[in-house]
Amino acid sequence: MTITHHPTETTLASFATGTLDEARALAVATHLSLCPQCRTMQHKFEHVGGALLDRVTPDAMAPDALQHALARIGTPEPARPVRAPRADGLPEPLSAYELGPWRWIGRGVQWRSVGVPIENHLRVFMLKAAPGIHLPRHRHVGSEWTCVFEGAFTHEGGRFGHGDFDEADENIEHDPRVEEGATCICLVALQGNIVLQGFFGKLLQSFIRI
Ligand SMILES: [Zn+2]
Repeated sequence: MTITHHPTETTLASFATGTLDEARALAVATHLSLCPQCRTMQHKFEHVGGALLDRVTPDAMAPDALQHALARIGTPEPARPVRAPRADGLPEPLSAYELGPWRWIGRGVQWRSVGVPIENHLRVFMLKAAPGIHLPRHRHVGSEWTCVFEGAFTHEGGRFGHGDFDEADENIEHDPRVEEGATCICLVALQGNIVLQGFFGKLLQSFIRI
């Protein structure tokens, strides 16, 4: 399967330099785990970042910096909890996070939380939508980054299948439809709330809190 939608170069550069918040970094890391093309691009950005750092004139060191550094070398690293690899076939970057149970939020649509601390009004969750489901037309008050693991959906921006990355901002309004034939499962990093359009959308909004 060919991945046709990738994060923008700006997003990949932000990821490589560690300037993305954890929620959006997880969405990008999930895509990278599925996309060799973007992994290559990310490594290039890291090399560029490293080369730029090499050119930076270092600050003068504190007189006791060497002592501090030597003392830290002798200090063992705190033990980190070892997590067993996921047996559920989910992309590897999700293995570091607690996942909540699947909950129904509408006809044919389930939601589960991903344990990323909320920062900048960004929340991370997974969505599972049945084949043929048409999600209500909606727009965003912030960004909505989505990485698809299984199945596919389409909207005005094209078809989004396994590994595809959809980088929507607050200017985009769309009504995704899940393709027939397979359940669609994706990871979403959402800033703020989505704003559903139309009568049924407004009705649904009172039931779902996404
Ligand atoms: Zn990619």
